Amino acid sequence: MTPVIQFHNEGPMPREVYLDANATHPILRSVRESMAQLLLSDGGELANPSSPHAKGREARKLLNTLKKEFLTFLKRPADENVVLTSGATESINMVIRGLVDSEKTHQRKLVFWTTSVEHAAVLSTLASVDATIEILKVDSMGQIPALEWQRFFSWIEKSSDDLCLSLQVANNETGIVFDLLPILHQLQKITLDSNRKRWIHLDMAQSLGKLSEDYLSQLMDLAQFASFSAHKMGAPSGIGALWCKQLGCFKPMITGGGQEEGLRSGTWNALGAFGFLKALEDWKIHGEKYRLHLSQLRLLALDRLQKLPGFKLHGPLEAAANLCLPNTLNFSFQNTDTDTLIPSLDMAGFQVSGTSACSSGASKSSHVILALGFSDREAKNSIRMSLGVESQLQDVEAFCDFLASKVR
Ligand code: PLP
Repeated sequence: MTPVIQFHNEGPMPREVYLDANATHPILRSVRESMAQLLLSDGGELANPSSPHAKGREARKLLNTLKKEFLTFLKRPADENVVLTSGATESINMVIRGLVDSEKTHQRKLVFWTTSVEHAAVLSTLASVDATIEILKVDSMGQIPALEWQRFFSWIEKSSDDLCLSLQVANNETGIVFDLLPILHQLQKITLDSNRKRWIHLDMAQSLGKLSEDYLSQLMDLAQFASFSAHKMGAPSGIGALWCKQLGCFKPMITGGGQEEGLRSGTWNALGAFGFLKALEDWKIHGEKYRLHLSQLRLLALDRLQKLPGFKLHGPLEAAANLCLPNTLNFSFQNTDTDTLIPSLDMAGFQVSGTSACSSGASKSSHVILALGFSDREAKNSIRMSLGVESQLQDVEAFCDFLASKVR
């Protein structure tokens, strides 16, 4: 019998090579297996964790286990707070909008300090609230130079306003990791007037798993809030977390049924929480091996690509320990437009992001690549390869071969 729909009738489809893990990491195999097993088992459906019956209590227990495991994973004390959200965008909004609201109520003035290379979740949210914003510039290595930090520290000395320093730990486009520990230590040594508030929020959307837990925990020692996204580490989309050292410093953004101590109303995503928990369990066992695998593949790709004509790396050449994500490369080619290159990569089965793509489909230069001092052309033509832990050597080789055939 002839099938109704014929696939691949013009020869075999190319093998799919997914190199866009910073957008969404493919759900880990172990997570998919656990979720499938749960969903297909009798009684595997999850109830509303707010419900008073046994099934509700079971779902509630799952959330508590996730929060406990999340803190253990990050080597944090068990009495710190984890608010489950839909992802990093929501967590970031919660902190920014919540602090602005709270400051208004107390008739205080809050100044946000952030950087020019933050994700839109931070920059657009800050642009939409009624607060003063100071932007720290970055240098060509993607780091915040000493002069900019001097400007920041001299503002602290002169001003009596409250402060929220909101910084990403790792950049989603370039993979550059800010060298934050020395600065946050320096900041901690400054004593402010007793009534003056100082908050530090870290955007860790790209950091969970990809950077060592010891490192993240050291940063969290020096901060009050951190935002996380589970789909960047191989859990399903639609779940994330806001870590808060203390509760009670900001007003809730979403009101309703009073879930999460009234901080985030709305029915919990219990199935997402299950997937998040399984992803954490997987990374807890394999994290170190994953990071090594990713950095080896990244270096191999870099070694191959930098031999191609017109190659320009947007980021540091050497991935110094903890100053670069192990899975990300951002680059452009002098004589090649991403408007043609990305579709041809896509047709050949390679899924990567061009940072120029915006929701309207029109080309737009990446604000991150521009902030590093690259030209508009380079910013428009940047390609981001972001590896996932299940990426294979042959995927990277095929990608480099394909690019070689296109740019030569
Ligand atoms: N912050 C950074 C650095 C990101 O890379 C992203 C997503 O790409 C976000 C925030 C937003 O995360 P989410 O997709 O979970 O809302």
